[in-house]
Amino acid sequence: MRSELRRLLSYSVKYWPTLLLSVFLMAVAGATFGLIVNLSKPVIDRVLNPSNTGQAVKLFQVAGHTIYLHDILPFNFEQAWSMVAAAILLAYFVRGVADYLGNYLINRIGLQVVTDIRAQVFDHVLHQDTAFFEENTTGQVMSSILNDIDKIQVAAAHILADWFRQMFAAIALLVLVFSHDWKLALFSLTVLPIVVIPTAKLGRKIRRSTRRAQDRTAELNQVMQEALAGQQVVKSFAAEPHESRRFREAADHLRSSSLKYVAQQSISSPLIEFMGAVTIVALLTYARLQIEKQMMTAGEFISFLMALLLLYEPAKRLVGIYNIFQQGLGAAQKVFEYLDSKPSIQEKPGARKLERFTKTIEWRDVGFSYRTSNSPILDGVQLTVNAGEIAALVGPSGAGKTTLANLLPRFYDATSGSVLVDGIDIRDLTLRSLRQRVGIVAQDTFLFNDTVANNIRYGNFDAPMEKVIEAARNALAEEFINALPQGFETIIGERGARLSGGQRQRLAIARALLKNAPILILDEATSHLDAESEMLVQKALANLMENRTVIVIAHRLSTIRRADKIVVLDRGRISEVGSHEELVAGGGIYQRLHELQYLEGEIEA
Ligand code: ADP
Repeated sequence: MRSELRRLLSYSVKYWPTLLLSVFLMAVAGATFGLIVNLSKPVIDRVLNPSNTGQAVKLFQVAGHTIYLHDILPFNFEQAWSMVAAAILLAYFVRGVADYLGNYLINRIGLQVVTDIRAQVFDHVLHQDTAFFEENTTGQVMSSILNDIDKIQVAAAHILADWFRQMFAAIALLVLVFSHDWKLALFSLTVLPIVVIPTAKLGRKIRRSTRRAQDRTAELNQVMQEALAGQQVVKSFAAEPHESRRFREAADHLRSSSLKYVAQQSISSPLIEFMGAVTIVALLTYARLQIEKQMMTAGEFISFLMALLLLYEPAKRLVGIYNIFQQGLGAAQKVFEYLDSKPSIQEKPGARKLERFTKTIEWRDVGFSYRTSNSPILDGVQLTVNAGEIAALVGPSGAGKTTLANLLPRFYDATSGSVLVDGIDIRDLTLRSLRQRVGIVAQDTFLFNDTVANNIRYGNFDAPMEKVIEAARNALAEEFINALPQGFETIIGERGARLSGGQRQRLAIARALLKNAPILILDEATSHLDAESEMLVQKALANLMENRTVIVIAHRLSTIRRADKIVVLDRGRISEVGSHEELVAGGGIYQRLHELQYLEGEIEA
C-alpha cells in the first residue's frame, strides 16, 4: 500500500510550488481558527462584562512572553471590546481567504493529478496489443479508466484538501488547549479515548451488521427469485408450503439481523452523548474550583471547552478520511497494475524504419497459437508474396486465414518462425513504419462519429480536401457523399449508422486509398450486398488494388481468378499454392471449393 501512496504522490511533485503555497494557506487558516476560538475568552471576560473594558487584551503566553491582542493587529482602539470585535472580523476574513485559496489550489492539483493519471492510463491502454483487448473486455477497461480513477480522485481531493485542513485545525486547537492549562488538557485528552474507543468499536459492529443485513437481503432475493422463476416446478410438485417456509425463514433471518443493526445504531448516539456529559461534568467541577481560587477566568474556561469540543470534528474527519484513503489506495493499486502491464508486442530498442517496400513478404516457417488456447492455429506456414502480386488466401472457415494476415501488421506475433518484409524480420522494424506501409480493409469497417471527410482522413489527419475528394472518387463514394445533407461535412452517426453496408465499405476503401500504403490486406465481406452495391464495391476495390501488393482473404470467385497466387489453407497449414488453372486441375481442396462456389454462383445467377 505504501508504494502506491508514494507513486500517487509522485504525480503531484511536479506541482510542488502550488502544493507548498496551498499547504501554507491551510496552515494560516488553521492558525486563525485557533485565534478565533481564543477570542471567545476576551468576549466573555471583557465584551460581555462591561465593568472590565479598559486594559489591553491578553491573548496567550509563549515562553514567558505575553502576547497582547494589539501586538498582532494592524490597528489599536481605545476600547478593548471594539478591538475584540475588529479582531473577530479580521480573523474570519483572513481565515476565509486562506481557506478558500488553499482549498481551491489543492483541489486543482488533485484534479490535475487525476487528469494526468487518466490520460496516462488511456495512452497505455491504446498501446496494448490485440490480445490485451481479448483478455480485458471494453467494459472492464472503461470501468478502470472511469470508476477506479474516480475513486482516486475522491480520495485525492479528500486527502489533500481535508486532511491538511483538519490537521492544521487540530494542531491549532491542541496548541490552544495545552497553552491554556496543560494539566487540564492532558486530563481531558486521557479521558478522550474512554469516549472514542467504545464509539469506534460500536462503529465497526454497526458496519458488520450492515453487511450481514445486506447478505440476508441477498438470500431473501435468491429464495424469492428461485421460487418465482421456477414456479412451474413448484406447482407441479405442490411445493408451495416448502417455498413459503423457506421464504419465511429467510425473512426471519433478515429481520433479526436488521433488528441488531437498529439496536446498535440507536445506542450509539445516547452512548456518545452520555460519555460526553460525564466528561463535561468532570471538567465543570474542576473549572469551578479553579475559578473559585481565581486561577482561571470564566472566559478562559469557555474558550478551553470550546477548543476541546471543536477538536472532536477534525478527529472524526481524519478517521473518515482514512477510510476513503484506503479505498483510494485500493483503486490506485488496480490502476497501477494496468499501467505496469507490458504489451507483449513491443518495439525493440533501436528498431529500424521501413522506408519503402520493394521485394517480398515472407512467412518463414510460422507457427502460431492464441494465448487463450494452446491448440496451434498455424503450423509450419511457409509463404512468399512478391511485390506487386495479388495473393488470395482461401480455405474453409476457421482455417487460419485471418490469423495469418493479422501477423503482418503485428496484431499478434508469431509463436515460432518469423515474418519478413524485404528480408527484414518485422520485429526489428518500428511499429509505426510497418503499420504505415500496410493498409487494411476489413469486413467490418469501424467509422467514427465524425464527418465523412474526417473519417476518410483518419490516420492522415492533415490530408488536404482535394486528396480526400480524390480518394472518395476512386472509391466510387463521391456521388453518395455529395447526396448527403452536408456532403463531406455530414456527421455520419455512431459507427456510421446512417450509412448502408456498401457505403461503409466504400468509405473504408477511400480511407485506404488516402493512406496509400504499398501493401494491402483485404478481407472480403461475406455478407451479401445487393447487386448494385456489390458491383460498386468491386470496382472500388479494383481501383484500390491497382499497383499494390495485396493479401486478400478471398470469398469471391472473381477475386480469386484475378489473383497471381492462390494459397489454400486447411487447419493451419498451407495445403496448396498455385494459380487458378493449376489448382483447378490439381484435384485438391481447391478443386472441391471451386466446384462448390461455382455451383453456388450458378444458383445465385
Ligand atoms: P479464418 O479466417 O480462416 O476463418 P481465423 O484465422 O479467423 O480463421 O481463425 C482460425 C482459428 O483460430 C479458429 O479456430 C478460431 O476459432 C481461432 N481464433 C480466431 N481468433 C481467435 C482469438 N482471438 N483467440 C482465440 N482463438 C481465436
